Order: sequence, then C-alpha cells, then structure tokens
Amino acid sequence: METNEDMRQGTKCVHSGIKDYEFGPVVPPIYQTSTFKFKDADHGARLFKGEEDGYIYTRMRNPTIEAMEDAIADLEQGAKAIGCASGMAAVSLVFFTLTQRGDHVICGNSVYGPTTTFLAQILSKFGVETTFVDTSKVEEVQNAFRPNTKVLFFETPGNPTLSVSDIEKLSQIAHLHGAKVVVDNTFMSPILQKPLELGADIVLHSMTKFLNGHADVVGGIVVLKDPNEYGIFRKYSNHIGGVIDPFNSFLVHRGLKTLEIRMKKHCENALKIAEWLEQHSKIERVWYPFLKSHPQYELSLRQTKGGGGVISFELKGGLEAGKILMNNVKVWQLAVSLGGVESLIQHPASMTHAGMSKELRMQAGITDGLVRVSVGIEDVEDLIWGLETALKLV
Ligand SMILES: *Cc1c(COP(=O)(O)O)cnc(C)c1O
Repeated sequence: METNEDMRQGTKCVHSGIKDYEFGPVVPPIYQTSTFKFKDADHGARLFKGEEDGYIYTRMRNPTIEAMEDAIADLEQGAKAIGCASGMAAVSLVFFTLTQRGDHVICGNSVYGPTTTFLAQILSKFGVETTFVDTSKVEEVQNAFRPNTKVLFFETPGNPTLSVSDIEKLSQIAHLHGAKVVVDNTFMSPILQKPLELGADIVLHSMTKFLNGHADVVGGIVVLKDPNEYGIFRKYSNHIGGVIDPFNSFLVHRGLKTLEIRMKKHCENALKIAEWLEQHSKIERVWYPFLKSHPQYELSLRQTKGGGGVISFELKGGLEAGKILMNNVKVWQLAVSLGGVESLIQHPASMTHAGMSKELRMQAGITDGLVRVSVGIEDVEDLIWGLETALKLV
C-alpha cells in the first residue's frame, strides 16, 4: 500500500515502509544475508559508483532493514532513518557525525545514564566538551551556548524524573546559535510526540523500548529531517559499523504495527496508576507528565498526546522502603529497561543511573529513594493490586 503525508499514525504503523517483494508477501521478507550477488563485473562496479540502485553488503544497506527504517522515518515525519545496533549506537553515531575536536555540546542533565557517561567520559577524549544543564529551564540552556556549540541534545520527558523540555522554544534558540537540535524521543515514541515537527533536526530512539515493544530486541535508530544529511550519516554508520541486523529489524517492524494501540494502553494505565499512587499514604511524591501536579503539566498537554508509560515516585522511608517494595511486588518484574508490554520496576540510583557521579545524579533529581516503573499493557486492576500488596508491607 502506498502511504502519503496525510495518512494517520495508526495506519502508518501498519503499512509504512512495506514495498512490493517477489512472491507478493504482505510483510517484508527477512533477507538474512550478509552480501548480495552482482549480475556481472560491470553491474558490481556501477553499484559501487552509485550509478545504479541496488544492494551490495548488509552493513551498507539491506531491504529488511530499509523497510523498518522507512517506516520509522515516516512515523517521525523525517526524510530518512538509519537503523543502529542499539540506542547507544544511535547516540554515538549522532555525536561522531556531528562533532569534532574543539566543539561544544549542551546536553540535558536528565538524559539516559549511559548517554551522560558517553559524553562525559568517551566523547571528551576526542576533544569535545559537554555542558550539562536542566533543559526544562529555557534560561539555563540559553546561558550555556558558546561560539563553538554544535549540538543541543535532550530527552523530554527526562530520565528518570520526567521533567519536560519545550522542544519548539529550545529549537528556536539553538538555531539562532547555529547549533543542531537532537531529541531522544524514546520515552514518547512518534505516536505521542513528534520533535521534528516542533523544530528539532534529528530524532533518535532506543528501539529496544516502545518501538519494538516486546522486550526481545536491542536496537536504535537515527531519524533525519534534512535529506541532505543522509549521505554523511550513512557513511559514518557504515564506517563505525554499529548497524542493526535483518532479523532484529524484522522484529521491530513487526512490533511497530501495534505501536499506536500499545501507546494508548500504556498511557491509560500509567495515568490511572500515577493518580492512585499520588493519593497513597505511603508515597511522598509522584512524577508523571499528565498529572496536574507536574511542574510542566501545561507544556506536556501542548507538546504531547499522552503522558507515556513511565512513572517515577518517591516512597516515604527512602531507599529502605523502596527495597521492600521491589522485593515484594507482584505482577511487576524487577528489571531495568522500559517500553515493553510487561510492567517493570527498578531503582535508578543503584541501577540505570549508577554510572553517573553522585553530584550529577543529585543535580538531576535522582534521589536514593526514587523508584521508576514502566507501565505495561496488562489490566490496570492487577497492576494496582501487585503494588498495593507490597506497599502494605512498607
Ligand atoms: C534505553 C535508552 C537508551 C539506550 O538504548 P539501548 O538500546 O539500551 O542502547 C537511550 N535513551 C533512552 C531514553 C533509553 O531509555
């Protein structure tokens, strides 16, 4: 089926990226091959010169991977997308492509823990300096620009405190300074938020989370608004080599078909649980973008179509209380990651954000008693029962 710009997201989830293939399958075949035969020596030469369209070698291009990439580019309203071996491969591809020695990066202080570590400990080795700021505060971002700032990078909602940053406003400011805006859209997916429409230049995802949605793939993707950037990004992807493989691409593309209905259920369940937690006597505080008590509630309503599936909360009694909860909870599984159909619970300070210095953690609001949950698509009554059973013991 042909898709067009006006097609709605739910329809795109089902149809985007799929072309005509030999024998007429309705889903893209898994081209599980490392390399492709040339018809003759001249054909091979023409492909390498780019004079003819075709496939050469899977690290460079593969039809199964391409189908998934095209589908996600379509959902994000981007020109082109590049599949990566993981979300972190997508993060590193973006920075290795966009920056060089002497450049400066501004990064949100509540991004995924390993992204902070990548910038502070790895990219810094190559002479690129990063300033971490609270991107939910426009003024802090504004003050961080330098003449050599090349990239503004942030997640909204932030991780794990769910602080919300204004994509439109921050993009305008960054563009005045000649910097590119990169948004990690993992927590929202293109169903709830479309950063490229709001002014960002590049979107990336850990496809491991909502896009695949079934906790059985590790993958990432970079989506570009400007088709002219595709050549350089594909070249870097090909030479750094952190590419996704055909089978994982197939699984992600399969997961995408239900992305819209999954996101609806994640949001519906999460809002009910967040409201329930907020009135619970053992809970100190709850962070969820669609709660009226959230500091950027109005912005969330304006910028996104739902609060997403992730909630953070602080128990009365701090870390000790949190441990009792995590060790006694039913239905929910004690595991890191998020965005799958199954509900998960974890402790950021000792798990996902343990690699960050205590100082950076405190700046980002990641206290020792903070608990993060990823709300799945189970029946919400059972999820509440599972939490209540453990909270009684706290
Ligand atoms: C998980 C995650 C990543 C990293 O993705 P991997 O697939 O685990 O490499 C990056 N950003 C966010 C927001 C994430 O949740």
